[in-house]
Amino acid sequence: MNGTMMDYPLTLNHILERSGKLYGPVEIVSRLPDKSLHRHTYADFYRRARALAQALQQAGLERGDRVATLMWNHYAHLEAYFGVPAAGGVLHTLNLRLHPDDLVYIINHAGDRFLIVDDVLLPLYQKLQDRTHLRAIVVPLTGRPVPPGYLDYEAFLAGAQGDFRYPELAEDEAAGMCYTSGTTGKPKGVVYSHRAIVLHSFASVMADTLAISQRDRALPVVPMFHANAWGLPFSATMVGAAQVFPGPHLDPQSLLDLFQRERVTFTAGVPTVWLGILETLQKQPHAWDLVPGMRMAVGGAAAPESMIRGFDRFNLRVIHAWGMTETTPLGTVSHLKSYLAGLPEDEAYAVRATQGLPAPFVEVRAVDDAGAEVPWDARTMGELQVRGPWVAAEYYRQPDLLDNWTADGWFRTGDVVTIKPEGYVKIMDRTKDLVKSGGEWISSVDLENALMGHPAVREAAVIAVPHPRWQERPLAVVVLREGARATAEELREFLAPSFARWWLPEAFAFVTEIPRTSAGKFRKSALREQFPDWQWE
Ligand code: AMP
Repeated sequence: MNGTMMDYPLTLNHILERSGKLYGPVEIVSRLPDKSLHRHTYADFYRRARALAQALQQAGLERGDRVATLMWNHYAHLEAYFGVPAAGGVLHTLNLRLHPDDLVYIINHAGDRFLIVDDVLLPLYQKLQDRTHLRAIVVPLTGRPVPPGYLDYEAFLAGAQGDFRYPELAEDEAAGMCYTSGTTGKPKGVVYSHRAIVLHSFASVMADTLAISQRDRALPVVPMFHANAWGLPFSATMVGAAQVFPGPHLDPQSLLDLFQRERVTFTAGVPTVWLGILETLQKQPHAWDLVPGMRMAVGGAAAPESMIRGFDRFNLRVIHAWGMTETTPLGTVSHLKSYLAGLPEDEAYAVRATQGLPAPFVEVRAVDDAGAEVPWDARTMGELQVRGPWVAAEYYRQPDLLDNWTADGWFRTGDVVTIKPEGYVKIMDRTKDLVKSGGEWISSVDLENALMGHPAVREAAVIAVPHPRWQERPLAVVVLREGARATAEELREFLAPSFARWWLPEAFAFVTEIPRTSAGKFRKSALREQFPDWQWE
């Protein structure tokens, strides 16, 4: 047919070029290991990312070769995010909190050829370097000389010669990959195409999702090795937002200082980070002067409603979102629709505490055990299945895992949800975390979020424990706030008005901490191991 559009590939190279041409003076700020601040601009970033691409090609990188990174969030990691794909390579971010054995498996399974590693992380790399075949390029974050035997990142960039010419990339070529640190089985690799990342970036910056614009100063707390820091380095670069990186300093005090000092307007991370920050703010309500209305994307685990309310009191706005490594990761985001604006306050908060509406081009459905789609009635639970242009179609080199997709091409998320008639998705549990009591499902997530609304409770996780009569019953594992007290009876009474009686935790265990996954989420599998044969009274 006449009059159609050009065949123009959606690649990251366009984003890199555009950022260099349009946003040269915009800042890129990074916290270094010694806590000092390193300041660059997009002009520096543009020059250095291209130099990295050039140098990698000169060092023998070929189209489709994997370049691993073992890095905190900072300027050089951003350079790798764009420099590696610009060279025709595939950026493979490694989770630095994994056990060395897992890293060895992942590096070898992915077939990585190069590694860019922070000098402060060299001790970790040295535990696995003999079991891998990588050329390591070391970023001298501390300013100390790079030890012999490794390439120095700065010298590597300086060695780039001549004018860089982008390879002609097709949009469906791989730009990145990431392994999910699943709690069962071997880690699974997800490959991101240029096209998927570009479309995901468009969807992420929309006013009705994360609303990231050039006027933002964006700080990803979520690690750049976890689902591409939710794509923020890509989307923020696409729109030319200033970027602020926390480096290795992720404690509440350091983050609050950085929010204040760098006038951060947008940030993102898992709930455990925000619970710590909220507690710190509550203890010292006047200690920090943050940008009013700072947006905080919270995902990776459920954001308790009490946390959303708590931050509102400081004029800080939680945006609750759901996603997975397999979905690049943004899937759903919660904002109140205009026609719901008149809802009573409690109901409005309940909507904001859901995981939200699917982003454009993400299709969702909830499916029961028999494979039938369940109604969007806010009540019936089913497994969430999704599809869309940035949802993985398979795991890298794992044809045996195709069961994670249905015959008609939907990805089975393993999350159990209800969906409201208006389309809001609410995560009730992971399939493996649900509590099955007397044949009925109990949502552990609902219980723990309600518990975290109790003033004495800092953290709570609810797990299923075998029960002689009911098959399983919920056990609430609770961490109290410093100096606070609460008995099991008080907590049960606190929950009683909001839940059916049979949903209430059968028992409470008080602990000093809840084990975390490498991504900072509660590790419920470890809790289940900790309480294998709980003695019911
Ligand atoms: P990962 O791929 O490591 O980011 O883990 C993805 C999983 O995290 C999802 O399948 C959910 O179980 C969980 N998750 C992500 N976002 C949320 C959220 N907002 N609420 C509840 N669970 C979430």
